[in-house]
Amino acid sequence: MAAELVGPRVYSCCHCRNHVCLHDDIISKAFQGRNGRAFLFSHAMNITLGTKEDRHLMTGLHTVADIYCRDCREVLGWKYERAYEDSQRYKEGKFIFEKAKIVKENW
Ligand SMILES: [Zn+2]
Repeated sequence: MAAELVGPRVYSCCHCRNHVCLHDDIISKAFQGRNGRAFLFSHAMNITLGTKEDRHLMTGLHTVADIYCRDCREVLGWKYERAYEDSQRYKEGKFIFEKAKIVKENW
């Protein structure tokens, strides 16, 4: 019965503990961030978006926007606004959070 008492598993900003994403929204843990491992999420919260720009990533050209913690302005990752390769289209509208920038909140 104890499991039913556990709420959604939340990840927080490493800096200020602002809640920024949920474990249940992870699509993939096999991504590469600027500084190591990164996770792909279907949703994000309490973040602000930076300027859209075209970036050449390992998987081709993408339009991305950096995402910032809304409270402390730490850069946490980026959002895929547009992918130009058909095989990468599933990432459009999704969010990358760098593993080093988020912490598990009480779980
Ligand atoms: Zn923060």
